[in-house]
Amino acid sequence: MKYKIRVQISAGFALIVLITVALISLAANLLINRQFEKHVEQDQASFARGLAAGLTEQYDMAAREWNLDYIHGFGMYALNDGYIIRVYNLKNDIIWDAENHDMTFCHQVMSDIRLQMAKKKVGGDLITCRYDLVQDNTQIGYVEISYYSPYYSDENEFQFIRALNSILLVVGGVSLLGAVAAGILLARKIASPISKMTDVTKEISEGNYCIRFEAGQGAEEILALEHSINQMAESLQKQENIRKRMTTDVAHELRTPIANVSAQLEAIIEGVWEATPQRLKSCYEELGRISGLIYDLEELSQIENENLKLQKESVDLLELACSVKGAFENILQEKKLQCDITGNSCVVTGDKNRLHQVVYNLVSNAVKYSLEAGKIEIVVEDSKAAGILMVRDNGIGISDEELPFIFERFYRADKSRSRKTGGRGVGLAIAKAIVQAHNGKIKAESQIGAGSLFTIWLPKERAETLHDFP
Ligand code: ADP
Repeated sequence: MKYKIRVQISAGFALIVLITVALISLAANLLINRQFEKHVEQDQASFARGLAAGLTEQYDMAAREWNLDYIHGFGMYALNDGYIIRVYNLKNDIIWDAENHDMTFCHQVMSDIRLQMAKKKVGGDLITCRYDLVQDNTQIGYVEISYYSPYYSDENEFQFIRALNSILLVVGGVSLLGAVAAGILLARKIASPISKMTDVTKEISEGNYCIRFEAGQGAEEILALEHSINQMAESLQKQENIRKRMTTDVAHELRTPIANVSAQLEAIIEGVWEATPQRLKSCYEELGRISGLIYDLEELSQIENENLKLQKESVDLLELACSVKGAFENILQEKKLQCDITGNSCVVTGDKNRLHQVVYNLVSNAVKYSLEAGKIEIVVEDSKAAGILMVRDNGIGISDEELPFIFERFYRADKSRSRKTGGRGVGLAIAKAIVQAHNGKIKAESQIGAGSLFTIWLPKERAETLHDFP
């Protein structure tokens, strides 16, 4: 069953208050009743002892006889209070017995007491106590006193318990109302940001990725959740932009070579142009651009769909850097670029070919975006948890606005410029996907006109992820 938070919290609070008040009432009643009963038992016992002491004085030691008249009066007085007295001499002969004397009255008194006890729900048992009657250190007989204990009929005592219960009832009622009110207030405090979140997430699910929570006040967890939703919307917006841009870019990339090839072939078919080897070569080159693009797309989807099965082995990053540099010898000479490799050997576990591809892409960019006679530096550093490789150039650099997007597919900082350099905007996306498949990290720092620095961190064998790196 679905209940609103308000109902659930209020009901929870009310239940807690009810249980607490009920437990307090029960405990208080039990405790006070027990104390009363103990007190009454002690009172009754001391009254019975007083009766025994009173009877002792009714024996005349010198004459060796009992004052039966007084004992009779004494016994009847005690019977009125619910005490049945039986006096014996030392030979166990009965001197005076309330039941023998007036059995009907005795039964009437006792049944009255039982009736009272049943009415007031007090449970006492009929007990009989024996007290020795001693005068001047000589025992003269004994008395048996029977009475219901604990038994009390004093209205004050009942009133006290009744008053206590009424107070607890009032306190319980007020607390209950307070609990429900507090529950409603608290629930409103919790529910209102949740309702707001429901509205916002609904909007996001409907495609409005621009919506955001404004920085507000509230519980830490709620603020954290709002922050996460903002981040989610931001990343969805980013993904959406990339998707849109990628579709446009792919369409654009395909349109130009296809249009060129179509126009040339059309002219040849219609006999306007002759199919010279030069024209056919131009068509072939355009088709090469298209297949290059398709290759990049396949490569990316293979890596990003986690189909990338890494053939892990020990890879020395310094050796890797030297081998990549070797592949660029010609172009380095052509552009009169200086390329230095510094650092010590650093072994990480990874897929050698894939890591080669990463460093190749970084160096390829450094070469592409360096001006003639520029300087490229490859630095290898060894840290406890990771192998670090940096590629630095003093080339054209990347602007602050473009920098956050360079790792996205088909992103080219300056489109006309990159087309001239032959870039398709996937080199860094591929590098990032490979580094991430190795649980590593990649970062770019750059200043327009001053150059760029690309750093990769690759975890060593036992390091699962790189918490200590940016
Ligand atoms: P591309 O094939 O276009 O070079 P990449 O994914 O390798 O694609 O790079 C994306 C964009 O990042 C490039 O178009 C370029 O504008 C920018 N870029 C990458 N590396 C550098 C660098 N070392 N210097 C300046 N710009 C760079």
